[in-house]
Amino acid sequence: MSSPSTTTAPLVSLHTHTDLSLCAKPNMTLDAAVALAVEDGYHTLGFTDHIHIAEVTDRPAHAQQLREYRSRRDEANWPVRVLIGGEFEVQGKGSMVECDEILEVCEFVVVAPNHYHLRWVDSVGDTCAETAAHELDCFETAINWPHTDIIAHPYVGKIQKPEHEPNAMWDATDKNRIRDLIALAKERDVAMEIQPAVWFHPDRAGRVAELIDMWLDDGGLVSLGSDAHTLSTLRTWTERYGEIVERFDLTTEKMWLPPLDR
Ligand SMILES: [Zn+2]
Ligand SMILES: [Zn+2]
Repeated sequence: MSSPSTTTAPLVSLHTHTDLSLCAKPNMTLDAAVALAVEDGYHTLGFTDHIHIAEVTDRPAHAQQLREYRSRRDEANWPVRVLIGGEFEVQGKGSMVECDEILEVCEFVVVAPNHYHLRWVDSVGDTCAETAAHELDCFETAINWPHTDIIAHPYVGKIQKPEHEPNAMWDATDKNRIRDLIALAKERDVAMEIQPAVWFHPDRAGRVAELIDMWLDDGGLVSLGSDAHTLSTLRTWTERYGEIVERFDLTTEKMWLPPLDR
């Protein structure tokens, strides 16, 4: 496996689901996703299946599946770096959906700050500004959790009210608080994710790119994740990756990449 160049952004997806996630397509198996990544010349493919509350995620079974993924990877010697992680979620301000048994098996951790569509996740705020402030509370919760490597899909949670669309929430956001959060994230080596929900829907979420610009300007790291739940969305991510690299002028130095000992 070649090491990443110091200038060119390596092709990665550090947020990828398999059929272990309830919402993924049955054809999105570990092996099928790896085969696509090999074909498309990925540098690293990181798997991050959902860890929900204990009533929803069979935690011992989930942990066992991750152990099996890791053994499969260790035996297979694939020509792409494959990491087995997890997508954990913020439950509310200052509170995480935790699971030590699964954390122990994860090689890296993505945290969703805004799974507002799930009944156990707080959805707070009436006005756009309140909703945006709650989103930042959830970023802060994710940054303060010692296990977090990456904050997933900023501003593109499934908010029920149309007036709380990502662009409007971004406009209503206190940008000084964003600067404080970037400083905190830098201290803790937490990256902000660039992902399709922001990038592929400019009318709905295009202005959130300003968050990424601020994050990079202040020296924070970004992470690139397809959030693919199907093989076809992973392929689309490959095809459109270059646009993102170009838009944010990405290089290896600006990207969170898992340490080589993981
Ligand atoms: Zn998510
Ligand atoms: Zn996801």
